[in-house]
Amino acid sequence: MPRYDAPIRDMKFIFHDVLALQNYSNLDGFADATPDIVDQILETSGKFASEVLFPLNSVGDKQGCKRADDATVKTPDGFPDAYKQFVENGWPLLSKTPEMGGQGLPHALSIAVSEMMSAANMAFAMYPGLTSGAYEALMAGGSDDQKQIYGPKMATGEWAGTMNLTEPQCGTDLGLIKTKAIPQGDGSYKLTGQKIWISGGEQDLTENIIHLVLARIEGAPEGIKGISLFVVPKYFVNEDGSLGERNTVSCGGLEEKMGIHGNATCVMNYEDATGWLVGDEHKGMRTMFIMMNEARLGVGMQGLAQAEVAYQNAADFARERLQSRALSGPKAPEKPADPIIVHPDVRRMLMDTRAFIEGARMFSYWTALYGDLLHKSPDEKVREKAGDYMALMTPVVKAFLTDRGLKACNDALQLHGGTGFTKDQGVEQYVRDVRIALIYEGTNGIQALDLVGRKLAANGGRAIFTFFAELDDFIAENESDEELKPFIDALATAKGELQEATSWLMQNGMSDFNNAGAASMDYLELFGLTALGYMWAKMAKTALAKRGSDPFYDDKLVTARYYISRILPETSAHLAKLKTGAEPLMALEADRF
Ligand SMILES: Cc1cc2nc3c(=O)[nH]c(=O)nc-3n(C[C@H](O)[C@H](O)[C@H](O)COP(=O)(O)OP(=O)(O)OC[C@H]3O[C@@H](n4cnc5c(N)ncnc54)[C@H](O)[C@@H]3O)c2cc1C
Repeated sequence: MPRYDAPIRDMKFIFHDVLALQNYSNLDGFADATPDIVDQILETSGKFASEVLFPLNSVGDKQGCKRADDATVKTPDGFPDAYKQFVENGWPLLSKTPEMGGQGLPHALSIAVSEMMSAANMAFAMYPGLTSGAYEALMAGGSDDQKQIYGPKMATGEWAGTMNLTEPQCGTDLGLIKTKAIPQGDGSYKLTGQKIWISGGEQDLTENIIHLVLARIEGAPEGIKGISLFVVPKYFVNEDGSLGERNTVSCGGLEEKMGIHGNATCVMNYEDATGWLVGDEHKGMRTMFIMMNEARLGVGMQGLAQAEVAYQNAADFARERLQSRALSGPKAPEKPADPIIVHPDVRRMLMDTRAFIEGARMFSYWTALYGDLLHKSPDEKVREKAGDYMALMTPVVKAFLTDRGLKACNDALQLHGGTGFTKDQGVEQYVRDVRIALIYEGTNGIQALDLVGRKLAANGGRAIFTFFAELDDFIAENESDEELKPFIDALATAKGELQEATSWLMQNGMSDFNNAGAASMDYLELFGLTALGYMWAKMAKTALAKRGSDPFYDDKLVTARYYISRILPETSAHLAKLKTGAEPLMALEADRF
């Protein structure tokens, strides 16, 4: 039977020992996040994830969602009840502001809770994940009225939120949006158009669904500069907060898809549906980006989360499955063969994944902490750095964690041999489910372009230079520590290569944009590897200091050494590839493919 055990020990290590949340008690809500409270939250949400959501994971996969002729959508058996418990337990309120009824706890903590929900049941976790993104966008860009009307019920999760960008002719290029909005003279607009692939567009989990929709106001400029954002509720909300009539937005069909069957992916038809502008006319992308950035960090976390559940089950299988003898002689002579965990190549798959997961978890929570600093720090300089880091790290978290998350799930399947390819152990579901994470919220290729095209250059490169300075400081502070030296040396090499790649891009990317495009994915990989190298060096430093008190720290050091010796050296290959520029990619004529 597959299992999911929430990795609480590792989460506690990051929050208490490495990030030391307790040192941020000057920030709103952090004083309440005492180690005891953090542990309690991790343990109870981990239990909910393993005991309630995980058993529904394969149910959701097998049953999928069903649309009836009246355009209602039924989620898989057990989902509505689990969602009810999710709301009653108050999980969505964890880091929401107290003004909206939230507990105001650190966002970094709610990221850990989301990780567990997503690992246990990615399709389920997407419903509240999108609601959270829609809520943040409304809080950032909505009017006071809109915040009051929709905020409290979206904060609790009683109402869901969706994001409606994609149309049949427009995915990556949102400038092609056709959905039109006609002003009614009373502050409202009538929206007409079709959106496709809308996650949670219709469902039976919540009494209302608040759609955030990108559309073009009649007469708006062409392209991305003419896009506005609207809030379009499924049911109108009366002045007393009760639900009124049904709006003319409905689900026209459900997509059949490769994975995440428990999440309803809907065609949404807007037929003179009434909506209200969020923010300014033609400035919709600005607010939508708030939602997209939040969602991108959440999607990166999906890669890590699926890798974790796949890893746990692969490790169990590797200890149980008996095949062949160890190359160094039998390890279980009383058995007909040794467990496959004795074979170095099987261990390669497990160690690659373990080193990725633990580094990626640290990277996700570290980045999420900058989200807290951005919103809560009283120090303007700290807020500036946090904003720079959030912008710089978001595409890396999204793309690096999902690319490697897919690899981890694929390795877990490979480790299972034929058992992995059949349905019994459930590991093939993780591969199918995680696959979408590389595509939605902007494909990973687009994340790489965002990194090299926008994020590096922003404010004269302030963010990347701050990051380099932080790495230099860390290296200088620790290079005389003999035990830490291997980690510091490895980090210094990777950082040097990232710096060289950055200079190459600055010199060659501006003169020929194809050079920047061709280098972008290698640059993102090089960045992700280096960022995880930094995370591993930080974790190794803490583990060395705590060694002896718990075997956990010895294991951490073993994994840290694996990362710097077997994964981090990939940086050199990425540097060499990116420096070849656009020519090898662009040489063949399009009709010769
Ligand atoms: C299950 C599922 C759920 C989804 N949920 C939502 C949702 O809730 N809301 C929503 O609005 N959308 C949603 N989407 C849509 C998703 O965000 C898009 O699929 C995604 O943005 C990519 O758009 P596309 O599929 O049209 O691909 P295209 O834009 O057609 O891209 C095709 C390929 O070309 C590449 N490409 C395109 N342009 C460039 C470029 N300039 N440079 C380099 N490469 C480029 C892409 O990287 C990709 O590999 C969902 C999709 C799926 C499948």
